[in-house]
Amino acid sequence: MDAERKPITVGIPRAMLYYQYGTIWKAFFEALGVKTVLSPPTNREILEEGIRLSVDETCLSAKVFMGHVHALIGKCDYIFIPRYSSFRHDEVFCTRFEGLYDQTRNIFRTSPQRFLSCNIDAKNHQSEGDAFQALGVSLGFSAKESRQAYRQALKKQQAEQKAAVRNQEAAAKKDGLKILIVGHPYLLSDPYLGKPILDFFRESGTILLRADHTNRDRAKTACMEFSPTCRWIMSKELVGGAMLWKDRADGMILLSAFPCGPDSMTNELMTRKLKDIPVLNLVLDAQSGTAGIETRLESFLDIIRFKKGSPV
Ligand code: SF4
Repeated sequence: MDAERKPITVGIPRAMLYYQYGTIWKAFFEALGVKTVLSPPTNREILEEGIRLSVDETCLSAKVFMGHVHALIGKCDYIFIPRYSSFRHDEVFCTRFEGLYDQTRNIFRTSPQRFLSCNIDAKNHQSEGDAFQALGVSLGFSAKESRQAYRQALKKQQAEQKAAVRNQEAAAKKDGLKILIVGHPYLLSDPYLGKPILDFFRESGTILLRADHTNRDRAKTACMEFSPTCRWIMSKELVGGAMLWKDRADGMILLSAFPCGPDSMTNELMTRKLKDIPVLNLVLDAQSGTAGIETRLESFLDIIRFKKGSPV
């Protein structure tokens, strides 16, 4: 970084696409010498603040996101909220990701806090690389520096994804009861929302497989065979991941956030079409969170053990 350049701190809300693309974001800023600060892990206070700031119809994940933005206000020069629209012409992100930046700007319109975005929209000729280049330039870096930082960050993200798939391959080869969990990374990896569910299975000695720990291109191809009309990128990755791992699992859990439009369609489709595997549908909402879920998980495990002839 130019020695004369004023240091900048960028705040990143630890929610939603952070759990999918946070590695590339942090590595990009790091490569440019820009300091990043994360909001704290989700807790009850963040959730309640997000609920207070959001309209009722918003999905739980987006409500949590607003709580994270609130936690960063005044703690950094900019809060980073990228707009993910499309990576290719024939698929799109859920509209929440397209509108998140504008929605946040509107909710915090009276705050002096500055926000930063980048617009990934291949359908409108703005690839991910172009978007990151424009982001770097908007912070005062050259196009060349920004491109280099993007390439470096992309490699880091790809290596991380490959490692997750490799680790899961190794876990799937072990003996033991295996449960495949299908849910967005911002639910599953969130310490307040999804972690209690993951912990439950780990403590019960079950081997957990995650649909999102799949090569993304392979998952999209697998999804097209199951549901050729599915257009949402992240739904394709999850459904395709479920198709690729399901034969190696004894049961499958579909985890979604209330009221998620894409999941309500894809999970219903999987529940109806998949007859060869027991499926449990779990929906997290703002009121109950994970309360009461443990009992349902225990019963689900008992049913699977019973079916396999193991002691319950
Ligand atoms: S896919 Fe569902 S949970 Fe995710 S942002 Fe869209 S509506 Fe919310």
